[in-house]
Amino acid sequence: MMSVATVSPILHNIDNLVGFLKRGRGQQDSDCSQLELIERRKRRNIIETTTNEEARFADEEKSRSSGVRFGYLHKGLGLNHDEIDRLRNDNTNILLLHHKKLHLVLDLDHTLLNSTFLDNMSPDEQYLKTQTQSDHSLQHVHIVNTPGTQLMTKFRPYMMTFLMQASQMFELSIYTMGSRDYALEMAKLLDPRNQIFGGRVISRSESTKEDRKGLDVLLARDSAVLILDDTKDVWTVDNQDNVIIMPRYHFFRSSCQQFGLSSKPYSELKTDECDRYGGAYLANVLQLLRHVHSIFFNEIEIQGWDLIDRDVRLVLKLLQKEVADTHPLWKMAEQLGAICSTQVDPTVTHVVAADARTQKSRWTVEEGKFLVNPQWIHTANFMWQKQPEDSFPCHYQH
Ligand SMILES: [Mg+2]
Repeated sequence: MMSVATVSPILHNIDNLVGFLKRGRGQQDSDCSQLELIERRKRRNIIETTTNEEARFADEEKSRSSGVRFGYLHKGLGLNHDEIDRLRNDNTNILLLHHKKLHLVLDLDHTLLNSTFLDNMSPDEQYLKTQTQSDHSLQHVHIVNTPGTQLMTKFRPYMMTFLMQASQMFELSIYTMGSRDYALEMAKLLDPRNQIFGGRVISRSESTKEDRKGLDVLLARDSAVLILDDTKDVWTVDNQDNVIIMPRYHFFRSSCQQFGLSSKPYSELKTDECDRYGGAYLANVLQLLRHVHSIFFNEIEIQGWDLIDRDVRLVLKLLQKEVADTHPLWKMAEQLGAICSTQVDPTVTHVVAADARTQKSRWTVEEGKFLVNPQWIHTANFMWQKQPEDSFPCHYQH
């Protein structure tokens, strides 16, 4: 059974928000404050207003906006910078102190799911249009109608369990560079009863910088926010330390093509993604999130006494360094003179992997780089000399 309510403590209803703004303003601002606008909205909900009045109201609200819009939380809501700061602090403090939760922002495409236009599906994918729910190995395939187009969306393996369990530790938000219509349709699919996201669904329409995601549209302190996204660069530089990068999920042919992958997609293979041990990437990242959450709330030596002063970005940094420092293979490779990285880019010459099916392994082959198994490093270490790559091929794991 899904647990209820990761809804923002302050923002889950309009009365709380009005109360919050009243306290902050001491009610001395008499001239058309945000508070008055919200109260007018309340009255408007009770008394039917005319279309003209609604249009005027919307204009007034717009004129009061500071430029950072929070319309996704309450239609037409704009807040000034003081109000934003106070809401951020109060929201995060309540979450940390009373709910023992952090914030988690979730990207959609290639992180939680994969979508394709129905028109773009290959001949070998057509079976999905009629067998979506009957073929149990391909559950969680949905046809979605958005204005003007039809999509097929496939959830990443383990996604529903991930959302349920992550919502016990985090207040979850969606943030996609897709359109508002798309974001809302996806939110409906992922959270039909609106118990998980509580309206925190952000699309490119809310972004304050073109083609960039930023935490400035979130009512949460940056120090208490984690982001799960397959693309770090889409985030403003200030927020990139909050990002945990997910390996990209490609299910459909069009998605593979978009990223230059020529391998046969899972949709046509009638299978689905798994890690080298047959598990799910979202299960792995859930473990990591549990670990981060536990360190943040329990490790006083690392994070200090006061919850409010703690910074989850430091926990991430610490864990990344720990992995790099303690992984024996990594250490061994460095002793042999290699420069190691967890990311692939054109400067990479070799990728060490145990399974040829991973995204990085596929990228390596397609880029014409060397793909070798871990024994390549062990043997080089033992023999005190570099080994021929051909002798250490990386195979498919079953
Ligand atoms: Mg993405």
